[in-house]
Amino acid sequence: MVKSLYGVEEAINTIWVFLEQHEGVLKPVSLELLGKARELADDAGWSVVALLAGAEVEVLVQTAFAYGADEVRLAEHPLLANFSVEGYTHVTCEALLAAKPSAFLLGATPDGRDLAGRLAVRLRTGLNADCTDLRLDPETGVMVSEVSGFGGGVLALLQMQYHRPQMATFRPGVFPLRAPDPSRRGKVISVPVRLPPEMLHTRVVERVVGSGLDLSQAPVLVVGGRGVEGDFDTLREIASLLGGEVGATRPPVDEGYIERARQIGQTGVVCRPKVALVCGVSGAFHFVVGIQDADTVIAINNDPGAEIFKHADYCVIGDAREVLPALLEQLKL
Ligand SMILES: Cc1cc2nc3c(=O)[nH]c(=O)nc-3n(C[C@H](O)[C@H](O)[C@H](O)COP(=O)(O)OP(=O)(O)OC[C@H]3O[C@@H](n4cnc5c(N)ncnc54)[C@H](O)[C@@H]3O)c2cc1C
Repeated sequence: MVKSLYGVEEAINTIWVFLEQHEGVLKPVSLELLGKARELADDAGWSVVALLAGAEVEVLVQTAFAYGADEVRLAEHPLLANFSVEGYTHVTCEALLAAKPSAFLLGATPDGRDLAGRLAVRLRTGLNADCTDLRLDPETGVMVSEVSGFGGGVLALLQMQYHRPQMATFRPGVFPLRAPDPSRRGKVISVPVRLPPEMLHTRVVERVVGSGLDLSQAPVLVVGGRGVEGDFDTLREIASLLGGEVGATRPPVDEGYIERARQIGQTGVVCRPKVALVCGVSGAFHFVVGIQDADTVIAINNDPGAEIFKHADYCVIGDAREVLPALLEQLKL
């Protein structure tokens, strides 16, 4: 078995969280992870360290404390202004090797996934990717990550007994965003950055941002399944009147009724809205994982035995083609 660059005996009982930011704005998933790390650390008597890298990002330090960090390791350098996998891997790897934390958590964002994979190889440790939950055994210091997958309704529990740091990435929205405590304070430690420019093989020429759609943060989600028969116009109107977004199950996406970025579920987006209005959806496991943490689920289905009703707080047994226009009329009043 290949040994990690530092082992279980050398690891310090801290959970490190990678704070992902762009132009000084933190990704919500980083703050969600700080909250989860705080909860686990409190139970185990460990501490939480946030790794913040970028150029002129010191202003974010207090936010990290407010969301649960005890300490911030601050790596600032002009070449870290834009994310590059070479630069960020180098700096993060050096910081981890100097401090030897037991765990390192990252968001399963495009940059987080890129960084995590390369780091895990460099540190010769493992990586539990795309996890949906995390536990920590305070006795052994071993973390158990939950991953749904293998193409079916299977939940795998993964643990790393012999390698450190225990690395894992988490999808945005799987952990709740805890209320910040602005009075929390902590320690800031500068990370020395040795980053020769020739180390970076990529240069950001232009940044083109997509639609900016982030369903994981929508307060209200109006979801259409195969049962709405492609009528997303009514759902869009309802969502707009409720201040929310439209989502879909996989069949309408596959059939081209709506863009793939709006697919909810295991292979789509995992959401945590206050209200999910779910119309013409059967309630397959792959879909339900995407809305199971909604505060309130309202389901409309014409089949009284539909599985979705087991996951709903309010069940409307009826034809979506009748219920939705009636609802829209009421909302317009
Ligand atoms: C590896 C894998 C990953 C997957 N990932 C995802 C994922 O991320 N997201 C996802 O959604 N699916 C995913 N799927 C597919 C998933 O298993 C289901 O097939 C899918 O969620 C079913 O979508 P549906 O509920 O819209 O359609 P159906 O299962 O066909 O259900 C349609 C429902 O609409 C109801 N209905 C029909 N007409 C009406 C009407 N007029 N009024 C009211 N109700 C009506 C029916 O009673 C039925 O319950 C995945 C599958 C696999 C194998």
